[in-house]
Amino acid sequence: MDLIFATGNKNKLLEINKIIPKNIKIISLKDLKFKEDIPENENTIEGNAIYKAKYISKKFGLNVFSDDTGLEVNALNSSPGVYSARYAGPEKCSESNMKLLLSKLKLISDRSAQFKTVIALNINGKTLIFEGICKGEISHEKKGKGGFGYDPIFIPNNHKKTFAELSLSRKNEIGHRGKAVTKLVNYLNFL
Ligand code: IMP
Repeated sequence: MDLIFATGNKNKLLEINKIIPKNIKIISLKDLKFKEDIPENENTIEGNAIYKAKYISKKFGLNVFSDDTGLEVNALNSSPGVYSARYAGPEKCSESNMKLLLSKLKLISDRSAQFKTVIALNINGKTLIFEGICKGEISHEKKGKGGFGYDPIFIPNNHKKTFAELSLSRKNEIGHRGKAVTKLVNYLNFL
């Protein structure tokens, strides 16, 4: 089966290609020479995921899935959430986003948080949603060189290292995206 993954994020592509079975061929937006920034103007993670999948499906007329992810911090009323990419401004700079989050939590002892990934699959005219959650906490400082986005400041539950210090395969095993992709693959295997 051929499936377009509606993302311009090479890290998401890398993570997903590592766990998706060989019978599903992922076509990236780069493969399709699509360079536009897909708008992310909805006010929920689900809304953005659905919008992205529909947008690309309309353009290319093929089966498509998208991934929208947010980091929800309990002490901050689940923010940045849907605004995770633009938390510190429209430049979508991960360094500034992490800096801002660490400064907001400076005097707060509850550092619990969760990553939430919503995958929207547009297939044969239907839209389906698969969710993956990974609970953990925000560290006091950045650590690690792997991963992307907020990975250097997120320590998953039952671990001592940040996602940026863990291997990609470990992140996929316990992480939000890996869980959502597993649900997606289970669904596709039953088609
Ligand atoms: P989006 O899903 O591309 O809109 O991502 C929203 C924000 O969360 C961006 O700042 C991403 O860099 C960040 N992000 C998405 N997925 C992950 C992840 O797996 N780890 C860390 N940060 C992530």
